[in-house]
Amino acid sequence: MNNNISDILNKNDLSKTDIIELLKADSVATAEIIKFAGKIKSENVGNKVYYRGLIEFSNKCRKDCLYCGIRASNVKTERYDLSDEEILAAANYAYLQNYASIVLQGGERNNAKFVSRISELIKKIKNLSNNNLGITLSLGEQSENVYREWFTNGAHRYLLRIESSDKDLYNKLHPNNNAHCYETRLEAIKTLKKIGFQTGTGVMIGTPFQTIENLANDLLFFKQYDIDMVGMGPYIEHTETPLYQFKDTLLPLKERFNLSIKMIAILRIMLKDINIAATTALQAIDPVGREKALKAGANIIMPNITPTQNRKNYLLYENKPCIDEQASDCNNCLEARIKMVGDSVAYGEWGDSVHFTKKGKNK
Ligand code: SAH
Ligand code: SF4
Repeated sequence: MNNNISDILNKNDLSKTDIIELLKADSVATAEIIKFAGKIKSENVGNKVYYRGLIEFSNKCRKDCLYCGIRASNVKTERYDLSDEEILAAANYAYLQNYASIVLQGGERNNAKFVSRISELIKKIKNLSNNNLGITLSLGEQSENVYREWFTNGAHRYLLRIESSDKDLYNKLHPNNNAHCYETRLEAIKTLKKIGFQTGTGVMIGTPFQTIENLANDLLFFKQYDIDMVGMGPYIEHTETPLYQFKDTLLPLKERFNLSIKMIAILRIMLKDINIAATTALQAIDPVGREKALKAGANIIMPNITPTQNRKNYLLYENKPCIDEQASDCNNCLEARIKMVGDSVAYGEWGDSVHFTKKGKNK
């Protein structure tokens, strides 16, 4: 056993230098870090995996993030917006499959019609499931009033990645205008927390210009902001985006993948009782990527329940997996894979972040 690594792992509080050392660990030391993170996971959140049925209901977006395949300026993407009936059918499928929660994700839009449509959908999803389905939203930056309206109508979790906690790097990944402002994004995360949402954030790993120190700071950022859930995964370049020109400066995909798994493991060691997602982008690089993430400390999986015909147009990045599959194709296969890594699916349980629940009790 590497003494230095095991000393770091056994510390109560990891410093930035410690985190950087862990992020730079070789493959032998990494195996040790992952094993340690797996133990922390079983002790603090158990070996259960919670499902969130993911409905990617529209790729229409007002924004132009420089990394994203569905950015407004990509005219090569065919735009779609599922009908209310299609969204409700997908939610009903998740309910019948006993998934317990869904995520409504889409491009960012903020007109009044969109806002009230989401409110109505939230109410209808609550209704069709006798109030049982938990609803997570991932619809970008909105005003405090809008977040409040959606919360009051029954959404209780929100995912808004900071993308990078470093302002300079954030600015290199986004156009330089008011619609893509680091401070606004940070304020939005704070507002979500204030309103009472279980708040999830995260970053992309292996973007152009990113350093190991940036990633260490991202992990410290999650701690400082007392985040309840984290979803992070590898950055995967998309040809129809401005950042594609930097593809030759990137780490090879496999290394981006390994770094992502290491980030998950270190995060689990630092924030023992939060929810951590095994994200789809991991599966885009390695067919068993999500299962490897579970081993390293993740405890949430978001099975895609978007109707098959729309999946090919929700390409945030290239090589996105399962775009030809139907929601039902995944059930048995996913459950068996999860069992293989020693976890079990917690059907019918909301799986709120233990961290969030404890905070409520301490209030
Ligand atoms: N519009 C919403 C939700 C959809 S995008 C929002 O931006 O919050 C969801 C996430 O996809 C983003 O937060 C981003 O981190 C991720 N993403 C976008 N393009 C990506 C790429 N090329 N590689 C990896 N992840 C990407
Ligand atoms: Fe739109 Fe989200 Fe993509 Fe940015 S990351 S362009 S907000 S869908």
